[in-house]
Amino acid sequence: MKIFVANCGSSSIKFQLFSMANETVLAKGVVERVGSPEANITLETENGKMVDVRIDAPDHKEGLKNVLDKLVNSEIGVLASIDEIEGVGHRVVHGGEDPRASDSIKIDADVIALVEKNTPLAPLHNPANLLGIEAAMAAMPTTTQVAVWDTAFLSTLPEKAYQYAVPREWYDKYGVRRYGFHGTSHRYVTLRAAEVLDKPLDEMNIITCHLGNGGSLTAIQGGKAVDHSMGMTPLEGLVMGTRCGDIDPGIIFYMHSQGFSVEEIDAALNKKAGLLGISAQSNDMRDLLGKAAAGSESAQLAVDMFIYRVVKYIGAYYAILPSVDAVVFTGGIGENSLPVREGVVKMIASLGAELDEDRNINTRGGACGPITANGSKLPVWVIPTNEELMIARDTRRIVAGG
Ligand code: AMP
Repeated sequence: MKIFVANCGSSSIKFQLFSMANETVLAKGVVERVGSPEANITLETENGKMVDVRIDAPDHKEGLKNVLDKLVNSEIGVLASIDEIEGVGHRVVHGGEDPRASDSIKIDADVIALVEKNTPLAPLHNPANLLGIEAAMAAMPTTTQVAVWDTAFLSTLPEKAYQYAVPREWYDKYGVRRYGFHGTSHRYVTLRAAEVLDKPLDEMNIITCHLGNGGSLTAIQGGKAVDHSMGMTPLEGLVMGTRCGDIDPGIIFYMHSQGFSVEEIDAALNKKAGLLGISAQSNDMRDLLGKAAAGSESAQLAVDMFIYRVVKYIGAYYAILPSVDAVVFTGGIGENSLPVREGVVKMIASLGAELDEDRNINTRGGACGPITANGSKLPVWVIPTNEELMIARDTRRIVAGG
């Protein structure tokens, strides 16, 4: 079975084509700058064929049509016909509290309405995801389309974890609560952790740390999410590339009183804060580690604050879980950034984590394995995430009627 996975942004279409027989990626790539005369597609196939060309993509429909044309192009030779694609899995960011959004679902008019209904909760993402759904339905009208919600895995949070201590009416009337994000990544690494730790999923208590340009931690009890660091929006929680994470909400009122508009404060906290804000240099961890090593104090402070915030969340989740089988790192930083992992693991030595420096150095670039010593009371693992594969598996399940 061949499954096409789409992850659409407002001006981009990221895609992967899977052969589900052995879960291999036949082709993957991205259309960038959709809607501009500079639109471009880059595509790479399993056997190393590359495409990097300007295309005519005034909208997502044309962008996707170009992708599908390339996939059946005889020079690329990945598909004989588009009809070989039996399912299309879409990353959809926000499903809200609706029970239909607690698991992946076949897309029909009602599901489209649900994505639209939740647009106020994800104003940047849901409309872009819808453009991708509409484009795929136009290009492949008889193919099963599946929505894989980013929020689904976090729908198991208990009320004491998802409610904010705000006037009750804010939840009842306006839906103010913790929804969380990155759920597909946390779910994937939780399932992989059950495999590599060789433990039944429903007995697994772990803390998953998705550390990328955006970042979040999830406390998992019995294989289910019981707390999560992102909130009603992705702004809460860790220090991120450009997002502030946890701050005193009073800062917003204070800055407003100093003459900043709500829009300016919103832009600053989402786009000019985090690692970028602290360092005033870069939002990129690799850059910052280089600058810190070269003596930049502000870059070092950004790295230190990033580590410190991760450790605070691990400590909090350690306290709420009945026991912890492992801490799991994933995401660009979690999978690759040795000094960040080292910094975190050394700080949680108090919880029983004992770093193995060789393992830390050798586990990167897609490798999976422990970075703590044998016998470490609290094992710490690196498990590379694969959200696209998770989406493809769910799509296969739903296409097969599951
Ligand atoms: P993501 O959003 O998951 O793609 O992660 C992006 C983040 O991962 C950026 O801050 C990158 O600097 C960081 N990253 C990727 N590779 C490395 C690396 N080799 N060392 C340190 N950070 C890295």
